[in-house]
Amino acid sequence: MENQKLEVYKAALESKRGELSSRVEALNADKNREHKGALSADSEDRAQEIENNEVVDSLENLESGELVLVNSALKRIEEGNFGNCAECGEAIKESRLDAVPYALNCVNCAK
Ligand SMILES: [Zn+2]
Repeated sequence: MENQKLEVYKAALESKRGELSSRVEALNADKNREHKGALSADSEDRAQEIENNEVVDSLENLESGELVLVNSALKRIEEGNFGNCAECGEAIKESRLDAVPYALNCVNCAK
């Protein structure tokens, strides 16, 4: 892949990484704040609070998972493997990388 193109993906991945890290941090802060306060005595409120925490947890897992992929894509850029399918080694289509710059697999292997 051309260096120029690689730089574009790298910039996109770095900004995505910044965005995800701050979101994961915000979610963590949110959760800590809720955990500090005792749960409501009212059982309905309590159920709602627990549910909220579960939503925050699953969001956090989702965003952390994406962050892992973004970091691994940046590592692949450094190693010079970026843009090759982790499964079959074929070049991943640029249209796919444009949509998902941290895609690990080509369209065929992702199926
Ligand atoms: Zn493949």
